[in-house]
Amino acid sequence: MNTGNNWLIRHARAVMTGLPGHAARHAGPDIRVIDGRIAALGSLQPLPGEQVIDARDCVVYPAWVNTHHHLFQSLLKGEPQGLNQNLTPWLAATPYRFRAAFDAHSFRLAARVGLVELLRSGCATVADHHYLYYPGMPYDSAEILFEEAQALGMRFVLCRGGATQTRQLEADLPQALRPETLDAFVADVERLASRYHDPAGDSFRRIVMAPTTTLHSTTPQQLRETARAARALGLRLHSHLSETVDYLDVAQAKFGTSPVRFCAEQEWLGPDVWFAHLVKLLPDEIALLGQTGTGIAHCPQSNARLGSGIADIAALEVAGVAVSIGVDGAASNEAADMLCETHAAWLLQRARKGQLAQPRYAGGQFEGGADAATIEDVVRWATAGGARVLGLDQVGTLAVGQAADLAVYKLDDPRYYGLHDPAIGPVACGGRAHLKALLIGGQRRVEDDQVCGVDLADLGRQAHATVIALQRRAGLRA
Ligand SMILES: [Zn+2]
Repeated sequence: MNTGNNWLIRHARAVMTGLPGHAARHAGPDIRVIDGRIAALGSLQPLPGEQVIDARDCVVYPAWVNTHHHLFQSLLKGEPQGLNQNLTPWLAATPYRFRAAFDAHSFRLAARVGLVELLRSGCATVADHHYLYYPGMPYDSAEILFEEAQALGMRFVLCRGGATQTRQLEADLPQALRPETLDAFVADVERLASRYHDPAGDSFRRIVMAPTTTLHSTTPQQLRETARAARALGLRLHSHLSETVDYLDVAQAKFGTSPVRFCAEQEWLGPDVWFAHLVKLLPDEIALLGQTGTGIAHCPQSNARLGSGIADIAALEVAGVAVSIGVDGAASNEAADMLCETHAAWLLQRARKGQLAQPRYAGGQFEGGADAATIEDVVRWATAGGARVLGLDQVGTLAVGQAADLAVYKLDDPRYYGLHDPAIGPVACGGRAHLKALLIGGQRRVEDDQVCGVDLADLGRQAHATVIALQRRAGLRA
């Protein structure tokens, strides 16, 4: 019987699995999907009622898991006032300036644009760090996010951000938004958990406790309370940390310690915690993150765009940190898709190590950084690594029994002509590969670059009109 999600993907030129070591590739060339799960990999013959995807000239990857985003920023790309600013003035210039300008319609449209962009890169799972909250908000943004993700068939992890105290840079803005009380913040997390949270390993709906920043958003005592409340509810913890040197300055000035040690004191480290960025770390902080099995959402493009630096992923992984990849919000990453992000991760890790090379006469020990990250490493971080930090152990890898979240890329662009190893094409060659099919839980959500149920031209027109409306509401246009 054909249930609509039984598939045979045939004749793939290469299969990446997201697994470590020799298991990173599977000879395939065929993958069978039954009832939304991977039933077999190998040399397979079609069964009656099965839908066949001809994957000749294609490579198959696990669908990406994006572990850090701010979807509302999808209508704030390239915003001129923040374009050439470092993190702190950029926050004031762009995300904080615009956040009061969003209404239910523009917020929903931003979420849709961001999710569609991710889908077309082959992404199935999104963790959105959503911090657009203030008392008396006129719309339920969590409901909108879950509705949009559900309409597109994506797995959605809502990291409920927010703050109980106001940063100076927010107070200075004309439309300063009020902070929430801790009780209201925690009560909303409890409401969301009871309404949406599914702890299953292939869940489509998760809630995470996620004050916007650990150093600024709450008092230390309150931060500890959020950790305890989350763990009592069986929820994970997420926040921003050590994105720039400013975190080191603030932790020293306010608390007389380092950012990671501060988090340790507030019970904010462990295998149920992951932080975005972790660019600027002291050696003992890397060790502490590793010992506790804390995770990272590495956001190389946003970190580069804001001039923050390049996280030392090799050192973090050796220390024991769970490595995943996130695109971060589109207000600091004009290519908020997972193919661009993994391409950047691959190159930047190598460039970072190469920057440290010294001549031998000055004590140097290596010529360059080409061994800092392989394509297989980057694929693993952005698939299985993401699933690990989110606790979604049934997604992120292509193996029998796993959920059938997989991307079939057709290498039919001249950029792939001449490629000796097709398996690396989607990440190594840059750009966006033709997405022949994206399955999520065995359901086809993208077919030949077309997102099922979405009129891209209409979405583009709506986005253009809504950008103008947002500029008006933010007082930047008459
Ligand atoms: Zn972020």
